[in-house]
Amino acid sequence: MRLFVQCHNIKCRRKILISSPAQVRSELPETFELICSFCGSKDFYHNNEVFAEIDPTKAPIGAIVGGLLGALVLGPIGALGGAVLFGGAGANADNLDKKAVERFNLSV
Ligand SMILES: [Zn+2]
Repeated sequence: MRLFVQCHNIKCRRKILISSPAQVRSELPETFELICSFCGSKDFYHNNEVFAEIDPTKAPIGAIVGGLLGALVLGPIGALGGAVLFGGAGANADNLDKKAVERFNLSV
């Protein structure tokens, strides 16, 4: 799971990554100051602006690895089935991350 706020600069509006181990919104400080790494604007953000997303460095791995294994074992046709069959272990981690994201986004 990764946490973001959207940059307050209306010309930027990029997602600013927050490095925090918080699992729910209440674990973040109510307000905090951030500098956007894209436009350099500095502003105060409220924790109700924070949203969570699935960490892309974790999420797709299960399916990719599973697909490769499936292709090795069963040939190209196996890639899709392999993603389902062998992706299980990775998919479990993906689901945990997805649950963490949902829990964070629903938290107040
Ligand atoms: Zn910005």
